[in-house]
Amino acid sequence: MNTFKFYTLGCKLNFAESSSIGKTLIENGFTKAKANEKADVCIVNTCTVTDNADKKCRNAIKRIVRENPNAFLIVTGCYAQLASEKLANIPGVDLVLGANDKFIIPEKLKIKDTTPVVSQTKKMTPFYGCYSHEDRTRHFLKVQDGCDYFCSYCAIPFARGRSRNGSIEEIVCMAKNIARDGGKEIILTGVNIGDFGKSTGEKFIDLVKTLDEVTGIERIRISSIEPDLLTDEIIEFVAKSQRFAPHFHIPLQCGSDEVLKLMRRHYDSKLFKDKVLKIKELMPDAFIGVDMIVGMRGETEELFEESKNFISSLPVSQLHVFPYSERAGTLALKIPYKVEESEKKRRMQIMLPLSEEKLKIFYTSQVGTKRKVLWESTNKNGIMCGFTENYVKVQCPFCAEKINQIEVITLEENMFDYEV
Ligand code: SF4
Repeated sequence: MNTFKFYTLGCKLNFAESSSIGKTLIENGFTKAKANEKADVCIVNTCTVTDNADKKCRNAIKRIVRENPNAFLIVTGCYAQLASEKLANIPGVDLVLGANDKFIIPEKLKIKDTTPVVSQTKKMTPFYGCYSHEDRTRHFLKVQDGCDYFCSYCAIPFARGRSRNGSIEEIVCMAKNIARDGGKEIILTGVNIGDFGKSTGEKFIDLVKTLDEVTGIERIRISSIEPDLLTDEIIEFVAKSQRFAPHFHIPLQCGSDEVLKLMRRHYDSKLFKDKVLKIKELMPDAFIGVDMIVGMRGETEELFEESKNFISSLPVSQLHVFPYSERAGTLALKIPYKVEESEKKRRMQIMLPLSEEKLKIFYTSQVGTKRKVLWESTNKNGIMCGFTENYVKVQCPFCAEKINQIEVITLEENMFDYEV
């Protein structure tokens, strides 16, 4: 058993974890199988954020079994945590490991142990810090795991356990390693990163301030942060920082206060609006991405309209829109008003063009400004791409010397790549 292959579904956290476990496997004498090669060990790191994600995972497992009939197949991650028996019963699956148990893969392989390990969610106390290695340019640095919020529609706290984090010292040490290996950009990653510090008695703002001092790293992105945890202090610090990028990703989920209450979110639309306006006041060119869910139980047509009009009125740059998906064990299932699938699709068709319009307005507002682009390594039909500090995606003809380099350019309309 010498070669391995990872199949990762879901969020950046999963990708960071797969990448880090892959590195440990290499240190333990394994080699990564090439894209078109059969592997001796296949590891599927699953996601359970929606019904569709579950389906994708099951299909991926079946395809991997067909493509690698003799491989030792490990299934781990959030879906494995919540549906371990179901996944263990798929023919060809050799070992199922829970979401926080994936880090014992190297040990399991060493002794060829096929006993499943799915730790109870409430016992998921250890925090495994890690970061992605694959891409030399951008590194996803895991700073936090789990969530204590229990929003009514979300199954993630059942899959990833309670909120926990590494210490500032531990995380800064990983950031220094990234800088030492030539990494230029770090994206702070977690389930609910604003909640950082619960298990170590520290604060997210102190992590931000300490990371800001790490030399060698050119820029840091906060990634997704809950609006109620995005304090004015954080916004003010980012506005002055040389390293933290003017880029925010704030999950709103719905712009109607009535639905936000049903969702058991920790804020109302006014708080969200105040945060967006504060960011724009201090950083007029900041990119603001927003997550939205359409068709949540209880979201009547009127409330959807209210939500759409609210987000439409705000100076945000892009929407990430998801149709509501029923998750077993969640409180939302008790809400009687259910939105038909066809109606969810209709609402998606309204929100997606709104997002495209917002992105276009934001990109166009940047024409003529001087920005720093960090060029990435992908060569797609002779074209490479990169992001500015304020998350404008630009492209140019592929040039190997530019990879992982920062270039100051004046933005022009024909440079934009809208596929973010
Ligand atoms: S904050 Fe809410 S939506 Fe986000 S992971 Fe926690 S429970 Fe789920």
